[in-house]
Amino acid sequence: TTLTQPVISVAMREQILGLDRKKQVGIFGGTFNPVHNGHLIMAEQVGTQLGLEKVFFMPDNKPPHRDPKRAIEAKDRVEMLKRAIAGNPLFALELIEIRRGGVSYSYETMLALKKLHPDTDYYFIIGADMVNYLPKWSRIDELVKLVTFVGVKRPGYTPSSQYPVLWVDAPGIDISSTDIRHRVQTGQSLRYLVPDPVIDYIQQEGLYFD
Ligand code: ATP
Repeated sequence: TTLTQPVISVAMREQILGLDRKKQVGIFGGTFNPVHNGHLIMAEQVGTQLGLEKVFFMPDNKPPHRDPKRAIEAKDRVEMLKRAIAGNPLFALELIEIRRGGVSYSYETMLALKKLHPDTDYYFIIGADMVNYLPKWSRIDELVKLVTFVGVKRPGYTPSSQYPVLWVDAPGIDISSTDIRHRVQTGQSLRYLVPDPVIDYIQQEGLYFD
């Protein structure tokens, strides 16, 4: 018998050598009205536990499922996010939905991002409340093929998903933007719930007082 050289395609060789390794990036969509420490804690845990290169906070322009009256200006939400993520090299901003305008549908956004960055695998971070809401997302069957959903538990929500979700263990943090807005209106302290530079901005701009 003659020994034959195994046939290895370029693609197989690259895969074996790890040369085709795509960038692993987190994408954290939300309204961030305002960003709070619950968001920051979950993004840090997901990013470090999964070994992601970056976690992009991606504020929506107009979420499909929210009461528009309660959303504040995108520029204020972006400014608060900038202040909140400053100093963490893992964190960055992705403003594609705000630049595109209109209602933000995650499927369209992720399709656009995949076209811009074909070398990137996206890990789409969501809380347990959103995990339960996935069946209502526009074009969800196509979206699950584009991204890996990463779920984080949230007090008050029992997750049940019809779609594949990679769960990351992070402490359950009972903070919501709704509660933060309510605390501003009732004059309660935001300290340790929201980063100090974000509290300064809320006070300086008089956000959420009425
Ligand atoms: P609101 O109270 O206005 O509904 P929110 O606190 O849920 O706001 P969003 O900006 O809507 O904040 O959330 C963006 C994403 O972060 C969603 O996927 C949501 O599930 C998740 N999330 C927000 N806060 C938490 C939390 N405390 N624990 C786990 N997930 C959270």
